[in-house]
Amino acid sequence: SLTGRLGDVFTKLRGRGALSEKDVDEAMREVRRALLEADVALPVVKDFIDKVKARAVGVEVLKSITPGQQVIKIVHDELVEMLGGAVDTSISLHAAAPVAIMMVGLQGSGKTTSTAKIAKRFESRDKRRVLMASLDTRRPAAQEQLKILGEQTGVATLPIIAGQQPVQIARRAIEAARLGGYDIVMLDTAGRIHIDEALMQEVAEVRDVAQPHETLLVADSLTGQDAVNVAQQFKDRIGVTGIVLTRTDGDGRGGAALSMRAVTGVPIKLLGTGEKLDALEDFKADRVAGRILGMGDVVSLVEKAAETIDAEKAQKIAAKMKKGQFDLDDLAEQLAQMKRMGGMKGVLGMLPGVAKAQAQMANAHMDDGVLKRQTAIISSMTKAERRNPALLNASRKRRVAAGSGTEVQEINRLLKLHRQMADMMKMMARQKGGGLLGKLFG
Ligand code: GDP
Ligand code: MG
Repeated sequence: SLTGRLGDVFTKLRGRGALSEKDVDEAMREVRRALLEADVALPVVKDFIDKVKARAVGVEVLKSITPGQQVIKIVHDELVEMLGGAVDTSISLHAAAPVAIMMVGLQGSGKTTSTAKIAKRFESRDKRRVLMASLDTRRPAAQEQLKILGEQTGVATLPIIAGQQPVQIARRAIEAARLGGYDIVMLDTAGRIHIDEALMQEVAEVRDVAQPHETLLVADSLTGQDAVNVAQQFKDRIGVTGIVLTRTDGDGRGGAALSMRAVTGVPIKLLGTGEKLDALEDFKADRVAGRILGMGDVVSLVEKAAETIDAEKAQKIAAKMKKGQFDLDDLAEQLAQMKRMGGMKGVLGMLPGVAKAQAQMANAHMDDGVLKRQTAIISSMTKAERRNPALLNASRKRRVAAGSGTEVQEINRLLKLHRQMADMMKMMARQKGGGLLGKLFG
């Protein structure tokens, strides 16, 4: 990771007074390489390096931290700033109802999926009534796709009338939203494989009719530089008030976000983090900066954990972990916490250095149903078994399976997960300065 590489560059610097231009240059070579690997556009990288250099040269190295850490902090802060800092990136609803939100972007970028995700969140979190309409008259079954997503999420969709053109559908949607007393009307426009004049013309006409309060460009983060060009063109031609960056669950590493924001100046508002309809996150500059740096997202994990972890229980678990005792009761407690934190995958994705463990967990398919069954399994065990899982021989496993309404296979999976977690926690407890555990429990 970049953090590690910078550490190497700067070990020899430890204890010296101020960061010289030569020191900083050396570090910037690593930063440059890391950013290019993260798919950040070259001009953005250059601009970024210049800014960091200007900030870093001559800075006194604090006694309490290493020069590497100090540069990482400067790089991190500059990244956060370039990503838009701590500005409010929520979708604005300050307009007369029905507030029109127009979704634009290339075909396959995730417009329809994101429309449903955002609508679902408005309904469940913000208690707003939403009407969704598909204006995609190009792709066969595109309108049906949105209808099905509407049924899955419980969000209303505009009835489909065959043969209508996008502008007609937009008019009908706004009228239906007004008559139906909806708060928000979301217009899911058609895309193309590439930007062309016909597409821009069509979207511009819809914009003129709908006068959207927000125009959200949906862009696939895995398409890198292409996504940036697309964003710029939509911005110039249509006007864009926010960007929804999708497929951030892939291995694009956040570089697209930096380029997009730096080149277009349009705020990134939301991140698509998966195919499921709740895989949507608010864009947070510091989180993405952490991801680009490969530091993991310690800060927000700590914040999230602080909300949900019962400090006393956590301290007990931490003490046990230090002694290498992490039993099934502790696992049950962890599972309950993970559920509160929004799923195993979500939490582990933020930990530094646990990519391998994360892959294992992902393979274990830790969805809510699994979490529930695993909790049931643990509560079907005797106290002795929970303390010492080694007691669970074949006949005991059959008893626990019968008691929890599960299968022996699932119990074996749980025991494997327990072993993996115990190992991972040992590893993390060993990390310098207590690592994440030190931060969570220290
Ligand atoms: P549209 O053509 O822009 O409307 O794109 P769709 O919404 O139909 O999405 C195209 C494909 O991308 C679908 O298979 C979606 O499930 C998938 N998709 C959308 N957003 C995400 C995301 O954030 N992560 C992942 N992994 N897949 C996504
Ligand atoms: Mg679509």
